[in-house]
Amino acid sequence: MKLEMALKDMAFALGWDYCGFADLTAHHSYMEWFCGDFIRQFPMAVSLVYRLSDAVVDAIERQEKDKILSFHNYNYYAVDYLQNTGAVKIARMLERNGWMAYPVAASFSVHNDRLAGLVSHKLVARLAGLGWIGKNGLFLTPEDGPRVRLSTILTDASLKTGKVMESGCRACQICTLACPAGAIKGDEFSESKTDTDRFDPKRCYDFMEKRKKVWGIEIERCVCGLCVAVCPYGKRKNNV
Ligand code: SF4
Ligand code: SF4
Repeated sequence: MKLEMALKDMAFALGWDYCGFADLTAHHSYMEWFCGDFIRQFPMAVSLVYRLSDAVVDAIERQEKDKILSFHNYNYYAVDYLQNTGAVKIARMLERNGWMAYPVAASFSVHNDRLAGLVSHKLVARLAGLGWIGKNGLFLTPEDGPRVRLSTILTDASLKTGKVMESGCRACQICTLACPAGAIKGDEFSESKTDTDRFDPKRCYDFMEKRKKVWGIEIERCVCGLCVAVCPYGKRKNNV
């Protein structure tokens, strides 16, 4: 448990709210969909979860341009910068201790058709037992809902892993009904289905591309974020 404690202490000191460990071996075939057999050299992963600011998330419910742009800057520049620099430091610590460590950049699409990165951070976080993948296609923790951002470090370090948590979505369809693009199909996560069976990334992307044109914005990526803001999980009690 010494390595697990050292990793958690370092993660919390760097600002993360949760740190867990996932055994990937039974999921390598599914993960090859993203990055090919590269994944097979990493039996384990460190999952890191950062809680977003309520003030920033709550502000996007009214879908005003200035608040959406601020949400974009906060998510993709401030929080992801913090996560990426922190993950590099933790990976270096693992390497100094003799393990392989590959920090996967937070939110960096390498498959534009699927809006997916090298590794599914949410799948790793689920395997680490930190929460579940919701009907909105996002990762949720019981306390924070989808108001989180994730980072991953692939490794061959020997770590005690978490247990997969059951989905808390159940009969809820709030995000499905709220999505202005009709991108969320309303199904629970299953490894027998791809993400795109449950969620249409093109609809989500096209919706914001149209909006960006109307708003005259030329940034690379921007999401409306309603599927984060409306979820009852993670809302402050006086805001539910
Ligand atoms: S970001 Fe907006 S358009 Fe995209 S899935 Fe979420 S609610 Fe739908
Ligand atoms: S809004 Fe409801 S269905 Fe959607 S992710 Fe949250 S709990 Fe799940």
